[in-house]
Amino acid sequence: MKTSFFKSCTAAALLFLAFSACSQQETTLGNLHVIPLPQEITEQVTANPFVIRTSTTICYPEGNEKMKRNAEFLASYIKEVAGTQVKVSSETAASNCIMLETDTTLTNKEGYEMDINADRVIIKGGSEAAVFYGIQTLHKALPITNGQTLASLPAGTINDWPEFSYRGFLVDVGRHFFSVDYLKEVIDMLALHNINYFHWHLTEDQGWRIEIKKYPKLTEIGSHRKETIVAPGSDQFDNTPVSGYYTQEEAKEIVRYAAERYITVIPEIDMPGHMLATLASYPELGCTGGPYEVATQFGVFTDVLCGGNEKSLQFARDVLNEIMDIFPSPYIHIGGDECPKERWEACPKCQAQIRKLGLKDTPEHSKENQLQAWFMGEVEKSIVARGRKMLAWDEILEGNPAKSTTVMAWTSPNVRIKSARLGHNTIVCPITHLYFSNPGYNRLKGVSSVARVYNFEPVADELTPEEKARIIGVQGCIWTEWTKDSVKMEWQMMPRIAALSELQWSNPKQKNLDNFLGRLRHQLDLYVLYGYHYKQDIDNVTIDINAGENGQALVTLSTFDNAPVFYTTDGSEPTASSAAYTEPFPVQGSQTIKAKAIRNGRESETTEETLNYSLATMRPITLASEADKGYTFKGATLLNDGLKGDGNYRSGRYMGFYSNNVDATIDLQSEQEISEAFIDTYLVPGDYIFGLTGMEVYVSNDGKSFSKVASRQIPVLEKGSKNNVPCHNTLAFDKTKARYVRIVGKCTPTLPAWHSGAGKKAFLFVDEIGVN
Ligand SMILES: [Zn+2]
Repeated sequence: MKTSFFKSCTAAALLFLAFSACSQQETTLGNLHVIPLPQEITEQVTANPFVIRTSTTICYPEGNEKMKRNAEFLASYIKEVAGTQVKVSSETAASNCIMLETDTTLTNKEGYEMDINADRVIIKGGSEAAVFYGIQTLHKALPITNGQTLASLPAGTINDWPEFSYRGFLVDVGRHFFSVDYLKEVIDMLALHNINYFHWHLTEDQGWRIEIKKYPKLTEIGSHRKETIVAPGSDQFDNTPVSGYYTQEEAKEIVRYAAERYITVIPEIDMPGHMLATLASYPELGCTGGPYEVATQFGVFTDVLCGGNEKSLQFARDVLNEIMDIFPSPYIHIGGDECPKERWEACPKCQAQIRKLGLKDTPEHSKENQLQAWFMGEVEKSIVARGRKMLAWDEILEGNPAKSTTVMAWTSPNVRIKSARLGHNTIVCPITHLYFSNPGYNRLKGVSSVARVYNFEPVADELTPEEKARIIGVQGCIWTEWTKDSVKMEWQMMPRIAALSELQWSNPKQKNLDNFLGRLRHQLDLYVLYGYHYKQDIDNVTIDINAGENGQALVTLSTFDNAPVFYTTDGSEPTASSAAYTEPFPVQGSQTIKAKAIRNGRESETTEETLNYSLATMRPITLASEADKGYTFKGATLLNDGLKGDGNYRSGRYMGFYSNNVDATIDLQSEQEISEAFIDTYLVPGDYIFGLTGMEVYVSNDGKSFSKVASRQIPVLEKGSKNNVPCHNTLAFDKTKARYVRIVGKCTPTLPAWHSGAGKKAFLFVDEIGVN
């Protein structure tokens, strides 16, 4: 060992001499505009930069172990990114140094100041954690040189602090288990984004993942399931067991690893719902006594912890006491979500407890929901007794909980408003924007997927200043029903976590998507450097197609980082010798446009759009009926843009009508012979989205007086109709000549008797209409 170490030192020394003898090494300048964007940056463009060399020393205050570790982190980042091994010392160097200091006079304990000149860099923070955030900024400001050139930092100052004190990220290990080593990598990813809370969702219907010494069966039985459903709505199972749990020592190791990176681990024990793994282990804790099985499917189950059994409460207290021994977190999350009350309504123990407590149904809160609030209140006592705070999902509001409960607002963006108005400290994590694993809301690609996160406003304008102050944080979540491995986890996280980190840290007044995207390339390059699997569709070309003149389509091709783009319109695969995109170009007629970005020889995936032309495509269109506000998107033109829907009715490729017909008139811009009209719809009966019940076609030559040329009835969808089915509805008629065509598609009046929402209004989602 010693010999080889000596040899490598000698080799390094020789290499250094060789450089000194030849020439001054080139430098590459970094960029202080990192992700998340610091609050204030002042660059001194004419001043000399700070150059990082092997002689550079990172100085930390003697005797401060946290600052020593901070210094070592920074040295390792510099080595990774710039390839330079700098020195770390507790002795102050006169020059060529990076000085780490704490300054207790700084008002924000997570805030830091950075001052960079040619001689030295000073990072001064309100705490050791704050210095760590300054280090992360410096880390990301470095150019990635891999030792080819010397890295330098522009002279200037940064004054920075976080917008929110709570910056969280959740990983669900209940549905699928992830190893301790991998969770450490995830924690590194969080640290790179200045996230300070790792919300560890430890228990689920599908698996209990943390050792509890007083209840050994939780891991003996509850951490195993025999198999897993293969896809949503499927009746097939994979016949592959899933198991795994963390010992208390392993959990403490995660806590320690995270704490070194100034990340607090919040444990979640989800109760009284989502407890099938518990009931399978201890059936006496359920209302019926079982038998129960660790869940092999996903969703919400009726079997939950009995709310009227003294043993259940004792169980909750015992588990949380062991949890609080492991986790020093000020917050303890006890779930409280998705707890159906069927069992409680029928359970003698639950009903006896309701009577004992004198609970009565009120218009806002059923007595069973109040029983849950009581149960949670009892649990909260044992949390508060140990100086901790209770954190729960927003369903807890249904039972009128104590104001001391901190609420995670997930079920919709509106709930954050309700929660803050009710007086609760609130953490914002709506399923619609910040559940990165949710396919329904987040089956978006590339820039639109990142933009959806970035454009979300955690603090609602309609709140008063006092209510706004109750929005204490923002969190992203990954639920692992369909996230079985680390690659998929990282695809779901990155790059959206970069957008999340700006919601959490940066000044909302400086929010600008283009500016963010301009800084994103470097962040992606860092992901590559660290071997993280970011979702590569961000690199792909975005194809925008809009109506041009006289039925032409105007095609715009773009990438988030303005990379060179090559394209074809004949369906062939684009290459570096295909047409290079310079500006929007017109096309007409059915065709396939394919485009690819090529960055330094590295090709993106191909993006393609197919235009399906009818006589109506890209012609002026007016809508006489109103689309639903939430599903209007770019307006009437999306109904005749020649572009097919993408199987996601929330994507903007369909227009949604709520209990309303689609009634559109198209100006063909000259008299045309026509004999067929069509309306393409999308059917998701499970989401109240039904099909047409009729079609009508009218024609006119002046756009004023129309005559009906055809109509037809269409039967209401039958029981058993599948979800996510495209439907092409046509109406043929005798050849006729006309310039204006009015096409009406009739919405299903009410949901039929077989549907769970029988009698309620239906949605109609329209993809495309046209005439031939
Ligand atoms: Zn019960």
